[in-house]
Amino acid sequence: MNHSPRDLPQIDALLGLAGIDALVRRYSRAETVAALRAATGALRARMLAGQATVLPDFTAPEFAETVAGHIAAARRPAMHRVVNATGILIHTNLGRAPLAEAALAAVAQAGAAPATLEYDIVTGGRGARHDHVRGLICDLTGADDALVVNNCAAAVLLALTATARGRGVIASRGELIEIGGSFRMPDVIAQSGARLIEVGTTNRTRTGDYANAIDDDTAVLLKSHTSNFRVVGFAEAPARAELAALARARGLILIEDLGSGVLVDLARFGLREEPVVGDVLRAGVDLVLFSGDKLLGGPQAGIIAGRADVIQRLGAHPLARALRIDKLSLAALAATLRLYLPPHDPLRLIPVLRMLSQPADTVRQRAETLAAMLPRALKVAVCATAAQAGAGSLPQQDLPSFGLRVNAPGLSPDALAARLRGAETPIIGRVARGAVVLDMRGVEDHELPLIRTALGAPDIA
Ligand SMILES: *Cc1c(COP(=O)(O)O)cnc(C)c1O
Repeated sequence: MNHSPRDLPQIDALLGLAGIDALVRRYSRAETVAALRAATGALRARMLAGQATVLPDFTAPEFAETVAGHIAAARRPAMHRVVNATGILIHTNLGRAPLAEAALAAVAQAGAAPATLEYDIVTGGRGARHDHVRGLICDLTGADDALVVNNCAAAVLLALTATARGRGVIASRGELIEIGGSFRMPDVIAQSGARLIEVGTTNRTRTGDYANAIDDDTAVLLKSHTSNFRVVGFAEAPARAELAALARARGLILIEDLGSGVLVDLARFGLREEPVVGDVLRAGVDLVLFSGDKLLGGPQAGIIAGRADVIQRLGAHPLARALRIDKLSLAALAATLRLYLPPHDPLRLIPVLRMLSQPADTVRQRAETLAAMLPRALKVAVCATAAQAGAGSLPQQDLPSFGLRVNAPGLSPDALAARLRGAETPIIGRVARGAVVLDMRGVEDHELPLIRTALGAPDIA
């Protein structure tokens, strides 16, 4: 006899079954009810679609197991690991830079037991949180002093508030950027209580434009990295050293929001020049601001490096307390920065730099290895792709990469991509020209079995 959805039992009746009652006692009534709704809802949908014509035995252990599976799924943390096969190496929505092993170990240690976060072990008195990274940042950038806050957006807000509140900030019209997540430079300047003075044009701004706009009220010249776009063609921006000379001559502070910020020159990997923090400081910029979790390859953090007297003002500002970095991020940042010191090889030890610097041939081999692991039922081809650094770093610069184009029988590329997102460990790829493309530059070798498992699921191949 065929059943219809009307024959599905009431939730209350199911709660009375021994196997289900055991779940109520083990977990909770509310979770069990929600799981029963999910399980019967799925059954109803299958019946309406003609995929099921008879009801299962609700008293059988298999049904209780299905319900328990729904409870487990609901209890799974909303944030869980995924495999980033998008080709965007620093993916803001996927948590940006994965941490180096040493950084992870430092987090575990700092989190597991009391630590000398703000404690001077010699005197037994109060210490300073920033001392854990100040020396490292100064050594690695040549800065006189440094301060670290929650993220780079916080660094911009603190720097402008502490130096220019109630006064003028001069910025080029070509650099009034919007970063994702509604960070708009004019709004941040307004929030700091400073007055924005726009100079130049979208494509061309000269040092003279800044010079002409300076008045008694001006406090800061601001330069910003146009992280996520590039003006090409008839374009001009003043040289840093010129702006620095102007700031010095007029007693102003030159601040540069570098966004990503790198400590090692990435040009040798075929990447167009991304300013190295040390070079920016040597050109005479007073304060450089950059992120911890972009090309630096560490945790979320906003690093401020530069002139000691200005850093001192920032550190003493009440906002510094509100924007301060937490101890776990601080531990991860210090450990990441130490990997830049000799004899360590940051290109090998820091995942983001390893992904960026690995030869395209290594990436192609990874794609070939994965292709050989996959079920025969799939249509798979190794293809050349273009990866990107992401998170507003190295804009518009394609990194030569390789990936797999994958099609599954009976599934559209969008449906296949959705199934991969629904895997136990979700695989995040992209759909391009009729296939799911899994880019291998941002995937580690040890993640290949996870992709194999997802693509081998019964509802795919
Ligand atoms: C990314 C970026 C920021 C914001 O950095 P967060 O660390 O995400 O707060 C600020 N300015 C520029 C130029 C950026 O590229």
